[in-house]
Amino acid sequence: MSDPATEPRSVLITGGNRGIGRAIAEEFLRRGDKVAVTSRSGSGGPDGALTVAADVTDGDSLDAAVKTAEEANGPIEVLVANAGITDDQLLLRMGDDSFESVVDTNLTGSFRTIKRVIRSMMRRKKGRIVLISSVVGLYGSPGQINYAASKAGLVGIARALTRELGSRGITANVVAPGYIDTDMTAQLSDELQDSYRKAIPAGRFADPSEVARVVAFIASDDAAYISGAVIPVDGGLGMGH
Ligand code: NDP
Repeated sequence: MSDPATEPRSVLITGGNRGIGRAIAEEFLRRGDKVAVTSRSGSGGPDGALTVAADVTDGDSLDAAVKTAEEANGPIEVLVANAGITDDQLLLRMGDDSFESVVDTNLTGSFRTIKRVIRSMMRRKKGRIVLISSVVGLYGSPGQINYAASKAGLVGIARALTRELGSRGITANVVAPGYIDTDMTAQLSDELQDSYRKAIPAGRFADPSEVARVVAFIASDDAAYISGAVIPVDGGLGMGH
């Protein structure tokens, strides 16, 4: 369903081959945009999207992915930094390597991707940056010190970026999902999933499409005056962020 009032935009989504990233890609495609997604294998994105290989921990692979996406679809106008991992351990068992690799993917990976698209957004005085954080970044969660730190850091990026580039027609916002049905949450034991469901006011996990529609709104012209915000999509779990 493309909006005739809006020209198709060039959208880049990291980690768009499955889960939330794939649902976001499908939503932008439904709205008529030109979509490129990354996956580490370089395959697996939805029909209609260009899938390019990139590992967000590897700057050279991001350089190549952004170049390929821009050659196909034009300068990136919307970036959704979505690629992310968990490596849960209680603090006493969490090694430096676990902390560093989660932060490197989730936080530094988002920084690396932003760096590679921001110049053309500044030149065009228009851009949308949406960072996929988590309720855990502000609410906390035992066993997720690495993940919570990485996701809280995204709020700092969005707010510093808003102050640095807000006058150039660029917005930077954080979307903070709660528990969403994807491969990531399928790893949790049934007992843990049940206990989370009891804690969520909505009483359920969400479908990835419920996050995707919020991301699409934040990236739309209608959201031009929203920047530096943290938008929860969590069934009420983190109220008070
Ligand atoms: P999935 O595990 O289903 O998918 C993760 C995606 O990230 C995949 O596309 C994966 O690509 C990509 N990815 C992981 N590491 C890298 C890397 N180094 N370089 C490039 N791509 C990478 O996760 P979800 O869809 O559940 O999560 C997506 C985002 O949403 C994450 O940032 C996550 O933290 C966040 N989130 C998820 C929640 C949930 O309940 N599911 C809740 C709150 C936030 P590949 O196939 O190549 O591995």
